[in-house]
Amino acid sequence: MTSSIHLRASRKPTVPVNVGGVMIGGDAPIVVQSMTNTDTADIEGTANQTAALARAGSEIVRITVDRDESAKAVPHIRDRLARMGVAVPLVGDFHYNGHTLLAENPACAEALDKWRINPGNVGFKAKRDRQFSEIIELALKCAKPVRIGVNWGSLDQELLTRLMDENAALPSPKDARSVMHEAIVQSALLSAARAEDLGLGADRIILSAKVSAVQDLVSVYTLLAERCRYALHLGLTEAGMGSKGIVASTAGIGILLQHGIGDTIRVSLTPEPGGDRTQEVRVAQEILQTMGLRSFVPIVAACPGCGRTTSTVFQELASEIQGYVRGRMAEWRGKYPGVEGLNLAVMGCIVNGPGESKHADIGISLPGTGEAPVAPVFIDGKKAMTLRGANIAAEFKTIVEDYVTRRYGAQKAEAETVG
Ligand code: SF4
Repeated sequence: MTSSIHLRASRKPTVPVNVGGVMIGGDAPIVVQSMTNTDTADIEGTANQTAALARAGSEIVRITVDRDESAKAVPHIRDRLARMGVAVPLVGDFHYNGHTLLAENPACAEALDKWRINPGNVGFKAKRDRQFSEIIELALKCAKPVRIGVNWGSLDQELLTRLMDENAALPSPKDARSVMHEAIVQSALLSAARAEDLGLGADRIILSAKVSAVQDLVSVYTLLAERCRYALHLGLTEAGMGSKGIVASTAGIGILLQHGIGDTIRVSLTPEPGGDRTQEVRVAQEILQTMGLRSFVPIVAACPGCGRTTSTVFQELASEIQGYVRGRMAEWRGKYPGVEGLNLAVMGCIVNGPGESKHADIGISLPGTGEAPVAPVFIDGKKAMTLRGANIAAEFKTIVEDYVTRRYGAQKAEAETVG
């Protein structure tokens, strides 16, 4: 009998690239990236936001390098991060004048762990190939990897026009969208081939081809993965704000990861005015963790609530426990290896509460309407105790803390003894 379960395809083998000590591609874990939205010339602001992104879990942070003041600020940002104890790899994002900024600011070129260039924005007509070559030759000299990042909003118009003309001359022309996908893919692959011709190895090249619609993203990356072995950076560009941006990014990135495509991801969310930039890091981590690809922070499963519970107690408890484990991770991560795989459940009533709680490492089933005011707690699938009264949240946190110390502390001690 054929199983109806569609398991994730194994990762397509890509050539691994070392970005400041973080491996992207090959059999390395899928890497979480983010990007600052500060003016890079503002050294303090950019260093602080980079540190916040890194502390939230971003394993690589990209910063804009758009003018001389920004390029001159980069080594100072690197120094300031070092003083803050933040060693996250930095990527410089270059458009139009990257060849000049990198050539005239060797300290900037050196302080960056990777350079991102957009073949549609390197230069135009005769200048394009020369300026592209200058950047690749500098990358060779400085031994830096490069991301060739195509974006459909700045696609090479000459290439697109040529492909459109060729398509129009076919007996059965393809639709314009397919031609656009082909132009995006060819722009990335032709640029990568040119970089390799200049001497940059495939182990120094990462490709991305960002578009803003989920189906376009899936088509373009599927074509790219079929045609090359370069490490691939996934992300939906201009994903948008709030739930729209989160849903669109999750759908696009999730489909591709499920097909084994993608070595590093960035979720490009537009923050609310004054909003928290680190949200994009949490969303990227949650995509990877909910898909079972990596673990970052203990997951708190919670039921959605329904008419069986008239109070907000379990919503408040779920939120408080999620905040608690996130807050404790800074200390737990170093002391208790593996704790990020912990599963917790906070449930609203007896219907699914005990069952779901038994599947978690620690679960609590709160009383629904009309049920006795008691909250059984299940540890490793067995009922361990019953909480009641006004201090359930504090008592549950103590139970979680004791469990983490006992289980993951013991694992660490065992590993140290074996080692
Ligand atoms: S566990 Fe209970 S309260 Fe929660 S959604 Fe299910 S029936 Fe509703």
